[in-house]
Amino acid sequence: MKVAFIAHDQKKNDLVNFAKAYESILSKHELYSTGTTGTRIMESTNLKIHRFNSGPLGGDQEIGSLIAKNLMDIVIFFRDPLTAQPHEPDILALIRLCDVYSIPLATNMGTAEILIHGLERGDLSWRNLVHEKQNKEENE
Ligand code: PGA
Repeated sequence: MKVAFIAHDQKKNDLVNFAKAYESILSKHELYSTGTTGTRIMESTNLKIHRFNSGPLGGDQEIGSLIAKNLMDIVIFFRDPLTAQPHEPDILALIRLCDVYSIPLATNMGTAEILIHGLERGDLSWRNLVHEKQNKEENE
C-alpha cells in the first residue's frame, strides 16, 4: 500500500514518534511525504520515504495529484488546528480529494492508530481491487 505522511511543524514530533512506534508495519509499505516531514522521519527511523516538496511549496498538491489518480491508499496528516497555515487552500484541497476518492485519512494520532492497525490486519485490501481494476483498464 502507498501511505502518505504530512505533519505541520507543531505536530512533527508526534508523527516522528508515531513512525518509530509503527516502523515494522510501515516498512512493508511504500511511503511518501512532504519534504520536511519525510526528512524528520528518516532521521529517526530506517524507513525509506519518497519526499515531495515542502508543504508550503506545493508538497500537499503533489500528494494530492497521486490521490487524484487514485494511487494513494492512506493519508496520515497531523494537522495543527491552532496555527494559521499559509497554504490552507492546498490543505483543504488535499482533504477534499481524500473524500472524493474515499481514501482513508487520519488527521490526528487517535485515528492514525486505528488506520495503522487496520492496515496491518488487511482491512484495506479493497484498495488492491481498485489497483487491479486500474491496471486492467490501462492494459485495454
Ligand atoms: P513539510 O510540509 O513536511 O515540508 O513541513 C508539511 C506542511 O506544512 O504542509
